[in-house]
Amino acid sequence: MSVLEQLIEALKRLPGVGQKSAQRMAYHLLQHDREGARSLALALQAAAEQIGHCQRCHTFSETPLCGICADPARDARLLCVVESPADQAALERSNSYKGYYFVLLGRISPLDGVGVRQIGATELLQRAAETAVEEVILATSFTAEGEATAHVLAEALRSRGIRVTRLARGVPVGSELEYVDLGTIAHALVDRR
Ligand SMILES: [Zn+2]
Repeated sequence: MSVLEQLIEALKRLPGVGQKSAQRMAYHLLQHDREGARSLALALQAAAEQIGHCQRCHTFSETPLCGICADPARDARLLCVVESPADQAALERSNSYKGYYFVLLGRISPLDGVGVRQIGATELLQRAAETAVEEVILATSFTAEGEATAHVLAEALRSRGIRVTRLARGVPVGSELEYVDLGTIAHALVDRR
């Protein structure tokens, strides 16, 4: 494979990028923005090498504990379960939640072979069993897989005597939290049950 072909193949790994878009991106960088190409390469390399996961909540972090887990001012009674760091960021932007998080890094998807174990349910159950935690808020998305994930986790948590709530409806069915407007997220948090 030529270097150009390798670049196009690499770009095709990005979500939503097919052959044509990958070609367009490659030609753009080579024709118009070599400097941008170099800084993109450096940024990707640095991110791949330096960004790991928070030991406590599993979100992306450059340090063993992320900024939120390391913040003693958050409300330790609340633990909010989200599917991804992007969903966590959406909740943070809504400015309506002050507890801690647990980031699943996925959702149950039997067709793709993703079960309870792959999404860190064991670690979640341990984290939720800590004495300070009084309520676990399930904020997985309102898609079929997100709902299934919430259902399975709720059963497991309740069977251990842990109080569980789910983000209220109002978040449109089928939607990823990441793309929901901030006011709706704030309401869904207040109206959780
Ligand atoms: Zn963390």
